[in-house]
Amino acid sequence: MSKTAIVTGASRGIGKACALRLAKAGMDVVVNYNSSEEEAMKVVDAIKEMGQEAVAIKANVSDRKEVGTLFREAFKQFGHIDVLVNNAGVVDDAYLLMLNMDSLDRSMDINVKGYFYCCQQAALKMFKQKSGKIVNVSSVSSKLALAGQSVYSATKGAVNSMTATLAKELAPYGIQVNAVAPGFIGTEMIEAIPEEKKAEYLKNIPMGRLGTVEEVAEVVNMLCSDASSYITGQVIVMDGGLSL
Ligand code: NAP
Repeated sequence: MSKTAIVTGASRGIGKACALRLAKAGMDVVVNYNSSEEEAMKVVDAIKEMGQEAVAIKANVSDRKEVGTLFREAFKQFGHIDVLVNNAGVVDDAYLLMLNMDSLDRSMDINVKGYFYCCQQAALKMFKQKSGKIVNVSSVSSKLALAGQSVYSATKGAVNSMTATLAKELAPYGIQVNAVAPGFIGTEMIEAIPEEKKAEYLKNIPMGRLGTVEEVAEVVNMLCSDASSYITGQVIVMDGGLSL
């Protein structure tokens, strides 16, 4: 029987690559999206072509009720939830004195509360199975001090702390919780950064290039596979050496 993975924010970027990689590993996948329905349906079609089951479910992860419905629908469809990749996230850089409070709330709601809502729903299902893997997508910004990124790095710092604590809480129930902390990965999120800033970041990456979404998905897949059988509570930094 195939395992079932829920990947949040799987219509684009890193989430899409994770959904495809987990399908390649033989999992059925719930492709969560918020607004990009067409893109999400394309991911579903690609997974079905690989011979796995997939369904696209719209849910805003910052809305607790919608997250409840997402997990209920996924469970109804597949009967079990074995993997959660908490990936949906936003970045909205601003210096402290320019900080917009709506943007602050939105970042906290999606990047922090959304991760909690999804972890809680996943754990409710995984408790009963006495097994499960949760991978939280953090960021190397949680480890660096990049001017203008205080909100984003605070949200990702929260992801790292919740990963460690939830790993300890859930280990007795056979549930592993880990995180990946990517550096600069070529996605729409990075496209939004001004060219001069991007060039400056590139100079600081010892490997001299951006990472790819496939490279992130490979590590996420490892953390969702038997290869991670004795790993929990860890944040795996993958940044081409940026944080060294
Ligand atoms: P992206 O290309 O901007 O894609 C974001 C995804 O999240 C989309 O699928 C979007 O869905 C979804 N999303 C946004 N808000 C949502 C919400 N409220 N509810 C449900 N889904 C929502 O981003 P990305 O670069 O792939 O980043 C994915 C994750 O990796 C984020 O957590 C980010 O912080 C982290 N990360 C990225 C980088 C990087 O260099 N790109 C580096 C480190 C960490 P819709 O389009 O349907 O709204």
